[in-house]
Amino acid sequence: MTYDYLIVGAGLYGATVARELTDKGFKVLVIDKRNHIAGNVYTEKVEGINVHKYGAHIFHTNNKEVWDYVNRFSVFNRFTNSPVANYKGELFSLPFNMYTFNKMWGVVTPEEAAAKIEEQRQAAGITEPKNLEEQAISLVGTDIYEKLIKGYTQKQWGRPCDQLPAFIIKRLPVRLTFDNNYFNALYQGIPVGGYTKMVEQMLDGIEVKTGVDYLADKDNWDAQAKKIVYTGPIDAYFNYSLGNLEYRSVRFETELLDKPNFQGNAAVNYTDAETPWTRIIEHKWFEFGKDENGEDLPKTVISREYSSEWKPGDEPYYPVNDEKNGSLYAAYKELADKEEKVIFGGRLGEYKYYDMDQVIAVALEKAREL
Ligand code: UDP
Repeated sequence: MTYDYLIVGAGLYGATVARELTDKGFKVLVIDKRNHIAGNVYTEKVEGINVHKYGAHIFHTNNKEVWDYVNRFSVFNRFTNSPVANYKGELFSLPFNMYTFNKMWGVVTPEEAAAKIEEQRQAAGITEPKNLEEQAISLVGTDIYEKLIKGYTQKQWGRPCDQLPAFIIKRLPVRLTFDNNYFNALYQGIPVGGYTKMVEQMLDGIEVKTGVDYLADKDNWDAQAKKIVYTGPIDAYFNYSLGNLEYRSVRFETELLDKPNFQGNAAVNYTDAETPWTRIIEHKWFEFGKDENGEDLPKTVISREYSSEWKPGDEPYYPVNDEKNGSLYAAYKELADKEEKVIFGGRLGEYKYYDMDQVIAVALEKAREL
């Protein structure tokens, strides 16, 4: 056997484990099915703009250890995510904060906003929220639910809000302050020069092979390493023997436009049910519209994002965290625990809606254990 560890997948989980194990003296090989590293955080330069090829990634964390860790591999800029919601041409500030409440109801003080939410919550008669719809109404009232949550969530998840778990919406802050920062995180930013460059740094000095499919030639790969860290979909590993786990997938329509400014913001969410895309990302604003020399960029790249149900051949993005998929995952997990040589990790390997910082935190933990 040539390697101590074969790491399948060069995304953040794989790159973190690879870095840590290498630094402890293990011999590591990283492979990836795609022809590039960095998994879904991969960025590609187009006309001087770092395009987030698999969707917008904004690094944010409360975890000081993780923040220090990523800062070893890249400088981070001061980007703060504050998306705008476009509901049939009406613009609202996100996440839900005093600017949103003022625009929606004309309220001026936090007391007035709180009273308005309370009034709508009481009218809806919800005591214990049992699903996303009830959770949303009890957090922000019916008006905001109807205009900013219902259509967007339905498009994003392909299911009505009363059939989705409440916790999804708890990711979003509700604030009685004039604070447009989408995240409740102490640390936030975008790696200067793009995520690909950051992951390249993480994998510095480590053997990496891209464009190779582990599952297509599993026995051969397994023979080369004592242990495997597998970060692909757990159901694919077992050849879907217990059935398909469901994922949401995303499709991007990316365009290069010959103008400097399309929407004036990195992210605009289209929160009505009729617009077919969920959001439009204008990539240059992640880096303030400047190239690496600080010059204004004359063109712009936008991506319309369409959410779809995953089917074989699509890229899996979001695990669907409902009961049915939860118990199917548990059954796969039982099989996984019996695979003595293999460690399953990451968003797809653990079928978990991890953010980037969470995935790095669990990867560091796992690497320590190994
Ligand atoms: N959400 C919403 N309206 C918005 C933005 C988000 O209703 O304008 C809800 C939606 O249900 C979504 C959840 O909040 O699935 C979490 O959003 P987030 O932006 O965290 O999702 P991600 O960036 O991971 O796609």
